Amino acid sequence: MKGLGRYWGYLAFIILITAWWTHAAGPVVLLVLSLLVTAFFLFQAPVWCCAINRDRSLCRNNSSGLLLGCSKRQHKWQKLRMTVVPHTWRQVNRGLWASPREGLTTLGALVAMISALAATAMSVAGQVSS
Ligand SMILES: [Zn+2]
Repeated sequence: MKGLGRYWGYLAFIILITAWWTHAAGPVVLLVLSLLVTAFFLFQAPVWCCAINRDRSLCRNNSSGLLLGCSKRQHKWQKLRMTVVPHTWRQVNRGLWASPREGLTTLGALVAMISALAATAMSVAGQVSS
């Protein structure tokens, strides 16, 4: 079962989608699951680093999650800085869709974030009506 630890998020993602689909879980469970899946895609999912090298190409080293760079110190900082500085978002965006795997990870993160918002709205609505 070596390496399974890196892939639990995909399983959680499938469970999350299934839970929405079947209405099997309450809003709190959906929210917790959504946040876990979001964190997985942002900080743990296997993707390319995608920091910009000196020759303006994208770094293809393996890294963990969309927000973190590879083991190069400079790339870690660059990724974090790029996330908070608006005029670098075009380049961030390039990295987010660098290959089908990165694209799916990005989509997964977006879906999980929307799911977290929807679950929050549901639980707020539930409290208002009860
Ligand atoms: Zn890198």
